[in-house]
Amino acid sequence: MSTIFSKIIAKEIPADIVYEDELCLAFKDINPTAPMHILLIPKKELLNLSDAEENDQALLGHMMIKTKEIAHSQGFEDYRVVTNNGAGAQQSVFHLHFHIIGGRSLNWPPG
Ligand code: IMP
Repeated sequence: MSTIFSKIIAKEIPADIVYEDELCLAFKDINPTAPMHILLIPKKELLNLSDAEENDQALLGHMMIKTKEIAHSQGFEDYRVVTNNGAGAQQSVFHLHFHIIGGRSLNWPPG
């Protein structure tokens, strides 16, 4: 089922896009939790990480490699990449997304 992120991919609603290629899109989170809070999403509609399969390996690997480029483009060397997988893990938008967070001291473990 499509989410608001599909509308962002289709450019039907605005987003502050910081990176885009044929496989993925990265844009600023509307409710940032840090000076840098980017969401990196696949253009393919995957619900979450659990929805990915073996044939998504190249897509996921591509996205992981791109996190560095995206963080660097925002001026940050250190950053956290996290995905919430399922409602019990605080996933609220059911289109796979990786939060790329940085620009402040980050605590561990997350709550
Ligand atoms: P989740 O809780 O891991 O699913 O994260 C969803 C994220 O999407 C939250 O950090 C929201 O602030 C963000 N978000 C929801 N709608 C929009 C939007 O339209 N533009 C940008 N970010 C959004």
